[in-house]
This record gives sequence, structure tokens and C-alpha cells, in this order.
Amino acid sequence: MDFSIPSHLDEKLRIVRQFVVDELFPLERELLTRPFRELLPAFSAAREKVRRLGMLAPHMSTEYGGGGWRFIEHAVLSAELGRSPLGHFAFNCQAPDAGNMEILHEFGTSEQKETYLRPLVAGKIRSCFSMVEPDYAGSNPVWIATTAVQDGDFWVINGRKWFTSSADGAEFAIVMAVTDPEADPHSRASQIIVPCDTKGFKILRNIPVMGHAGEDWLSHGEIAYDDVRVPCANILGRRGAGFHIAQARLGPGRIHHCMRWIGICERAFDLLCERAARRDLAPHDRLGTKQTIQSWIAECRAEINAARLMVLQAAWKIDREGARAAREEISLIKFYGANVLMNVVDRAIQVHGALGMTDDTILSYFWRHERAARIYDGPDEVHKSVVARRILRGYGLTG
Ligand SMILES: Cc1cc2nc3c(=O)[nH]c(=O)nc-3n(C[C@H](O)[C@H](O)[C@H](O)COP(=O)(O)OP(=O)(O)OC[C@H]3O[C@@H](n4cnc5c(N)ncnc54)[C@H](O)[C@@H]3O)c2cc1C
Repeated sequence: MDFSIPSHLDEKLRIVRQFVVDELFPLERELLTRPFRELLPAFSAAREKVRRLGMLAPHMSTEYGGGGWRFIEHAVLSAELGRSPLGHFAFNCQAPDAGNMEILHEFGTSEQKETYLRPLVAGKIRSCFSMVEPDYAGSNPVWIATTAVQDGDFWVINGRKWFTSSADGAEFAIVMAVTDPEADPHSRASQIIVPCDTKGFKILRNIPVMGHAGEDWLSHGEIAYDDVRVPCANILGRRGAGFHIAQARLGPGRIHHCMRWIGICERAFDLLCERAARRDLAPHDRLGTKQTIQSWIAECRAEINAARLMVLQAAWKIDREGARAAREEISLIKFYGANVLMNVVDRAIQVHGALGMTDDTILSYFWRHERAARIYDGPDEVHKSVVARRILRGYGLTG
């Protein structure tokens, strides 16, 4: 495996690193203290600068206006962007839009690509992905109740979804609904594009998460689909392929998240070290001279390095053999990376003492928003189970 960064990419990464520090870090104070929508003009201005750098939607093909970065290149970029909560948003490769761009690109018709993909890549609209339901276990993706019934040239959708991230202000949702109840479990559902102004599509609330309901991109919606009628042409991919498309979306999506987490870890680690190097417990008694703190610093460094190499190895395998072949690596890094993230942010908060609990540093934001890393895109326990079952198969245990 060769993980060396080509020189052309090195220069781009240097530009991105500087951009994040100069343009995005200063906006974070606002992000922590003001409603998201009020800040959209400032975020749009930052995006405009990214557009001028030619780096908008770097992961998407140039044919649709993206940057055409290879998967592993985007993984490395993602770690730089992850240092700020605004990094991916400024570069228009934030969840859930990045994943929606990928499935529209892979499975969309030319008309769907023109109507939805192109403006999404250009950053003119946002989208959301509506799969999980409050009354059904999201960790079992083949078990959902929302239905889409064909009526002439239309699908009629009924159901309830929640944690549809960024639904507030989105132009369209990609909805998972049962279209073929009698089919085998993996072929019962389809994905359907629903413009959010369609009659019957209703955001019931932005769900408060750790005390913050959020708004706009920074929110998670609970949504009612009541007799929502959309043309049959709005189906994404073939009928019954919903589960298959969800898998295609989640594999690379997990790598995006994992590399973003590495960026968060690096930022939290910097803050931890800066605090340890400057905080005095008494005159001439620096926090960083205490063995426990030194031990945390060494452990964080080792864990972040290990996580980074594991993600790069998974990305490298996806680039060569595809997401399916890299399923085990993806599961490994999903739960390992999420737990490294928790450890590093937690230690950084601890080192800051009471300050770590305040919104005077970005650490509290990371804690609030990233605890979910161990849950979304498959909880830890599910990924561990996937890995262990595959390993045990080699020892003759099936089932
Ligand atoms: C911040 C955030 C953003 C999200 N964004 C989106 C989105 O944009 N679109 C969308 O559709 N969904 C989204 N989700 C939903 C997410 O995908 C689900 O929360 C996730 O799949 C888990 O489903 P669940 O919450 O129903 O938990 P459940 O399936 O009820 O599981 C609960 C717990 O049970 C345990 N468990 C589950 N399965 C097993 C097992 N096999 N063995 C052992 N233990 C197990 C785990 O500890 C798990 O955390 C988001 C969630 C969060 C928190």
C-alpha cells in the first residue's frame, strides 16, 4: 500500500488547511452563539471563495460541476475539512447532500441528474435522506413501514420518518418506502425523490438533540408523509432497489464521516495540547507536566494515527475493489473511528476543566453533535457483529 500524497494534492491540501484556519475558524464563534439561518450570508460568502478556488463538491465528477477528486484524495481532504464543523458545508460536500449526490450520479436518470444533481453540486439547493422511522429499528434497514403505492402515473407515499437530517430548507428528499410488500426483504423498498413543497410532505419538528433543535442544514427533522403524490418517474434506480442503493450510499458515506472525525480529533488534540502546555496549576507547575495528561496525549496520538491509517486502507481498497469488497474494513473503521473520536474529544474536554463544558471552545459543539457517531450509519454493535461474523465464518461458524 502506498499512502504517499502526490505533490499536486499536497499543495491543494495546504490551501485548504489555510482556508479552514483563516476563513472558517473565525465563523465558529458565530455558529456557537447565533441561529444557523442568520449566518447563511457569511457561509455563502465562504462558499463563494471555495467556488473561486475550484474546489466546490470536490468528490463529484467534473461532468456535473464537481472537483473530480479520487475517493482516497477526497478522504485526505475530508480530514482537513473536519477540523471545523463548517468545513464540509463550505466545500459543499456535507452530509446528507454528499451521499445524495453520489446516488443520484450512480442511479439517477439523465432528467433526474439535470433537475436535482446539477443544482445540488453547484450548491444552489440542499437535500435530505429520509429512511429511518421512529417506530422501527433503524439498525434493521429492511424493516420500515412507509409505503409507496402506484396510482396511475404517480406514487402515493404514506408514513412517518425521523432524523431526516437537514430537511428544514431542503429542496427535495430521497425517501425510502415499501413498494413491493410481498417481495423478499431486500427487494421490498424503493427510493423515491420527493420535492419538499409537495402537498402532504410536512416537517413536524426539528428534533431537539442534546438541548438544541437547530435549524436549516443543522437540524434533524421528523416528517409526516400524508398521501404525498409524485410522478412515477421520480423513482431512483429500479423498483425494489432501495436497500441496494442505501448500501451503495452508506459504504463510501462512512468513509467520509470517518475522515471528518479524524479532522475533529486533530482539532481537539491541538486544543488539548495547547491547554496542557499553557495552563498552570500553581506557579511553575504546568498541567502538561503531569503524567496522566502526558499519557492521554500519547494515547490520543496513537489512536488518531491508527484510525487514520485504517480509514486510508479502507478507502484504498474501495478505490481498487469497490465498496462491497471493503465491507469488513468499512465496518471496522466505523466503530473504531467513532470511539477514537469520543475518547479524544472527552480527554480534550477533561483537560480544559470547566472551560471544556462551555461554548467558549468548539469542544462542546463536537461533543453535542458527534456523540451520535456511534449510532448513525449503523450503531457500533451492528458493525462489530458484521466483522465478527465474517471472521468466525473462517472458523466454520455460520449464521
Ligand atoms: C444525528 C443523527 C443523524 C441521523 N441522520 C439520519 C438521516 O439523515 N436519515 C435517516 O434516515 N436516518 C438518520 N439517522 C437515523 C440513524 O440512521 C439511526 O438512528 C440508526 O440507524 C439506528 O437506528 P435507531 O435509532 O432506530 O436505533 P435501534 O435500531 O432501535 O437500535 C438501538 C440500539 O440497539 C443496539 N442494537 C441495534 N442492533 C443491534 C444488534 N444487532 N446487536 C446488538 N445491539 C444492537 C445499538 O446499541 C443501538 O444503538 C440519524 C441519527 C442520528 C442520531
